[in-house]
Amino acid sequence: MRREWEYRQPVDVHFGRGILDSLPDAVDRLGGHKGLLVTSPSFVSRGVAGLLVDMCGGRLAAVYSGVSPNPDVTECDACAAMLRDGGCDFVVALGGGSVIDCAKAAAAVCRADAAAAEYLGGRPLPPDVLPIIAIPTTAGTGSEVTPVSVLSDHIRGIKAPLRCDGFYPRIALVDPSLTDSMSPYMTACTGFDVLCHAIEAYWSRRHLPVCDALAVQAARLVLDNLLRAFTEPTDTEARDRMAEASVTAGMAFALPGTNCAHVCSYPLTGRYNIPHGEACAMTIDNFIRLNGRKGSDRAVSLARALGYDSPEALADAVSALKSATGMRPDLSEFHLGDADVESLAAACMHPNMRNNPVEVTYDELLQLFRALA
Ligand SMILES: [Zn+2]
Repeated sequence: MRREWEYRQPVDVHFGRGILDSLPDAVDRLGGHKGLLVTSPSFVSRGVAGLLVDMCGGRLAAVYSGVSPNPDVTECDACAAMLRDGGCDFVVALGGGSVIDCAKAAAAVCRADAAAAEYLGGRPLPPDVLPIIAIPTTAGTGSEVTPVSVLSDHIRGIKAPLRCDGFYPRIALVDPSLTDSMSPYMTACTGFDVLCHAIEAYWSRRHLPVCDALAVQAARLVLDNLLRAFTEPTDTEARDRMAEASVTAGMAFALPGTNCAHVCSYPLTGRYNIPHGEACAMTIDNFIRLNGRKGSDRAVSLARALGYDSPEALADAVSALKSATGMRPDLSEFHLGDADVESLAAACMHPNMRNNPVEVTYDELLQLFRALA
């Protein structure tokens, strides 16, 4: 039994409906003079980006809106070039995980000479990162409170997390009203991302007592509110609780890290274009059952903390929530052959799989994907 542990959460978190209006105060606290707003095209067309620029009275000097889902290293380089060429001293990221992750990486890459692809290839990141204000617009990523940025290199077929302390935003403004316009499908995908962050954080080999408490609370909030937010998109109470779940789950996994379902999600997204949260949902109930069957006491204590007798009972509840929210049940639409299944299983033998509470073998992954194929 481990007795010593350390916990750190350096992000200033401000939560509430309408908290977006406090952006100018946040910029004041950073001492920012010239910032870049990083966002996705939809927030420009809906006028939210313009609103933030106006609110900051000239201190948000430019907008980079070239971020796509699963942002590519070249988008990060383009954003870094704007930061460098514009002489920016801070970054505001308004968007889902893709936007916040791209902004984090660009805030580091703009301080160095190499291209983002080299850092994804293992080059150490520069320690000196521009300060970031993160404003999440989905209840999913948790990226506003983590030191992680997930980037893709589509040419080399890589999607992987980068991690550095400088990636912790300085300030997070979590305004649930920004999630009100999410479609039911997007609500479900991002909600399952939150649930997986919470579950994987709890049973991570690097689990921590403080993070356990955060993980249980976040998972409970999802189990109690996701279906409501999915079926009643205008239910602001459910939206608020899901936004709370997302930031709480982010704090839960920031240090313990993710494992099984997240490891499997990367090739599922990269190869079959399944959105991140739905790709995580694809295997999470299977892993709850597998970890339970293989005798993980963490899977047992998680199930009990959430009010279930066993991991099997928790997995049944998660499977039911998946089907009630329209998450695809399997990979049958992709008509996978034996070689595809073997290659998927091989791609999941990633070092992060060792952060699962029990060992997962290649044969077990093969079995899992055969059952889903
Ligand atoms: Zn995730």
